[in-house]
Amino acid sequence: MRLKDKVAIITGGARGIGREIALKFAREGADIVIWDVNLEAAGATGKEIENLGRQALCGKVDVTNFTQVEESINKTLDKFKKLDILVNNAGITKDNLLLRMAESDWDAVININLKGTFNCTKAASKVMLKQKSGKILNIASIIGIIGNFGQANYAASKAGIIALTKTTAKELSSRGICVNAVAPGFIQTDMTAKLSPAVQEQMLKNIPMGKFGKPEDVANLCLFLASSDADYITGQTIIIDGGMVMV
Ligand code: NDP
Repeated sequence: MRLKDKVAIITGGARGIGREIALKFAREGADIVIWDVNLEAAGATGKEIENLGRQALCGKVDVTNFTQVEESINKTLDKFKKLDILVNNAGITKDNLLLRMAESDWDAVININLKGTFNCTKAASKVMLKQKSGKILNIASIIGIIGNFGQANYAASKAGIIALTKTTAKELSSRGICVNAVAPGFIQTDMTAKLSPAVQEQMLKNIPMGKFGKPEDVANLCLFLASSDADYITGQTIIIDGGMVMV
């Protein structure tokens, strides 16, 4: 019960890594707010949370829309009266080589991954500043550190998230708010399932541990960073990738 009676917002919490974080936090005693564009899937995850004996509030929220984000923060406060944890997890890929990348694919990835993180952080930190406490976790990626063929938009968005994490930590840490990023490697979700078997095989060769990560591996790290065990950690980017990138 490392998050007993905490209130956590998880963006993109309907499926994949976000869903696993939501369930892990609920098992550790937190009430969960899920913001996702897929309300049906969010509701299904919400049911699982309630079955674990915790409360769930699921909203159709597009993180690129600041008005929706602010309204949803107000709904969270109406129901739970406080906000302890924000996990900026919503993210997409739209891969192509730089010369073939459409402007719309560049914009979509930067908007959801980077601007979405900015929007939610701005709205949540207002509440956390008043409380003088909070934890903000941003899901980045090792691609934001090392770059990758065909992922100019994604790599730039995730590098932006790492820089945003450092700046937010500098601005907020003296007021009791810890801000950290998590940089996963290859994690088995719908996002990576769409990569061809040849690409997946190539990736596997670069993982010293010889296996892909699971959403639960990322959720375990997020639990640590969201808990009081990590109260003296801020502004950091923690890599979780089976040894793919060693810095
Ligand atoms: P998934 O595609 O499985 O899940 C992402 C979730 O975010 C979906 O529920 C999706 O909804 C939702 N979402 C998409 N756009 C928005 C939006 N505008 N507003 C709110 N919610 C939205 O991805 P993963 O679980 O694999 O990834 C989660 C995070 O982890 C992402 O930030 C990703 O970049 C990062 N990551 C993943 C890695 C991996 O190997 N899987 C590695 C490194 C980082 P919908 O179902 O409608 O699309």
